[in-house]
Amino acid sequence: MEIILPVVAAILIAAFVAYLQRSQPRVRCPQCQSQQVRQLEQQLEKIQQDSTMGYAVKLDVKLIMKTTYRCQTCGHAWTVTAPET
Ligand SMILES: [Zn+2]
Repeated sequence: MEIILPVVAAILIAAFVAYLQRSQPRVRCPQCQSQQVRQLEQQLEKIQQDSTMGYAVKLDVKLIMKTTYRCQTCGHAWTVTAPET
């Protein structure tokens, strides 16, 4: 188990990074439906939740992707939050 766990973690991280690079969706401005949208910033937030279950402590880690967009047509800016599970 001591050897397998880091390998599994590395595979999961690699798959997650590949998923992020693939998923660049075509975004439309919610105000004017323009596709002239620029991505301002993208940040990954890690939320850790400690929950005690009986004798064992279970550690839940949630990843939340926050992406900020700005419309180049009307100047509207908004943030999209997508939870990664
Ligand atoms: Zn717009």
